[in-house]
Amino acid sequence: MKCTRCRKTQAAVDLPSHHSAFCPECFFVFFRRQVEEGIRNFSLLSPGDRVLVCVSGGKDSLVLWDVLMELGYDTEGLYIDLGIEGYSSRSREKVQSYAGTRGKEPIVVDLHAEGVPIPLAAKSIRKEECSVCGKVKRYFFNRVAAERGFTAVATGHNLDDEAARLLGNLLHWDRDYLSRQHPLLPGAGEGLVRKVKPLWRVSELETAAYGFLKGIDYVIEECPMSEHATSLVYKDALSLIEEKMPGTRRKFYQGFLEESRRWKEEGADEENAAALPGACAVCGAPTYAEVCSFCRLKSRVTNPGDVLKTFYGFQGRS
Ligand SMILES: [Zn+2]
Ligand SMILES: [Zn+2]
Repeated sequence: MKCTRCRKTQAAVDLPSHHSAFCPECFFVFFRRQVEEGIRNFSLLSPGDRVLVCVSGGKDSLVLWDVLMELGYDTEGLYIDLGIEGYSSRSREKVQSYAGTRGKEPIVVDLHAEGVPIPLAAKSIRKEECSVCGKVKRYFFNRVAAERGFTAVATGHNLDDEAARLLGNLLHWDRDYLSRQHPLLPGAGEGLVRKVKPLWRVSELETAAYGFLKGIDYVIEECPMSEHATSLVYKDALSLIEEKMPGTRRKFYQGFLEESRRWKEEGADEENAAALPGACAVCGAPTYAEVCSFCRLKSRVTNPGDVLKTFYGFQGRS
């Protein structure tokens, strides 16, 4: 099959959901345009931004970093060492070697040194590893960005991730999560930095093809702790539908973004309108509670008998 764009070269990437097939060069053009359009749709980034890109060593985040640099953004990479034996050192290596090829040195946060390696943290508070991990990562994304003067934090979530998350939120009718699911989470006050997902328009397959054709070396294994993650079930379910009806995943997620825009315009979300966060009494990070959820977690992991226990009753998000 010939490339549907230049009609000269043999196609290397077949994209049934776009009724297209591209040669490598045309695919790069297509991919960059999709990302640019995703950024423009919701004004995720502007040329003056200093962007902190959260890189795990997996394909999505390294592709994100790569494409943002190609688009001319001022970026640095942040790697969080989760303290998971074997997996963490292998993924850290991938991040460092990729960064090296672009003349960069990633910022590294080591959760062992911070006293909250994920396996220990999950065990201490008897919660699912992925939810603990998500909370700890979000905390450091924001903290590092705020401390070092970044204006945006970018993560590598792609269309498949966001559609799977939407399906999960809908299956549980989780109104609170639904109202906050978006490629753009605006910053607030001094300490809460804007969070963006510039890859929300591109699929996992497209991201993988970009990484492969660009020769980006990434860690292929999944995190060993995510083996039973429910998000993988939702992804499989959507893949099954997508296979029979190409384009469904995109319509599903874009349709949701359209709808949620309408709900917001109609003021249905007024009750969720964000008040400005206060500062955590322990670390100063922005939070809606007295002590931020990271500090509460950390005190439970490091000293279970801590005085902070009194704050455990506090409900609030941070
Ligand atoms: Zn072509
Ligand atoms: Zn705190």
